[in-house]
Amino acid sequence: MTDDGCVFCSIVRGRTDASVVHEDESVLAFMDLRPVNPGHLLVVPKAHASGLEDLQPDVGVQVWKVAHRLGRAMRRSGLRCEGVNLLLADGEAAFQEVFHVHLHVIPRFAGDPFRIRSDWRVHQREQLDVSAAAVRSGLAALGGAPQA
Ligand SMILES: [Zn+2]
Repeated sequence: MTDDGCVFCSIVRGRTDASVVHEDESVLAFMDLRPVNPGHLLVVPKAHASGLEDLQPDVGVQVWKVAHRLGRAMRRSGLRCEGVNLLLADGEAAFQEVFHVHLHVIPRFAGDPFRIRSDWRVHQREQLDVSAAAVRSGLAALGGAPQA
């Protein structure tokens, strides 16, 4: 997987400025350049992975652990934070804009501008069961255990 021209790889290598809050062997976390709210962070694997398909599962675990800790830190930061969203966009249809995996840690408060719109209607059990069967077939196609 190429990382030529990848802005997050450039940040990881110190070639592009970022306001870093955490760094370890496999993960870097820094402020989003276009924050939803002050404190909005991105947690990225240091090794380039464009999406979930090529993200190493153990690195994904570390991305989550760091985001979990940062979400807790946010509530103790003095920044306005009444809630936290952890959000990962995988694919253009899911609003991914930078094709290097990143988990958003977004501090939230009542009346802030962030919205996720949908009709949120309840689906019938039959429809849900059809969807569940489709996902189970996807799991079977992957093979192996969940951590594989
Ligand atoms: Zn990259």
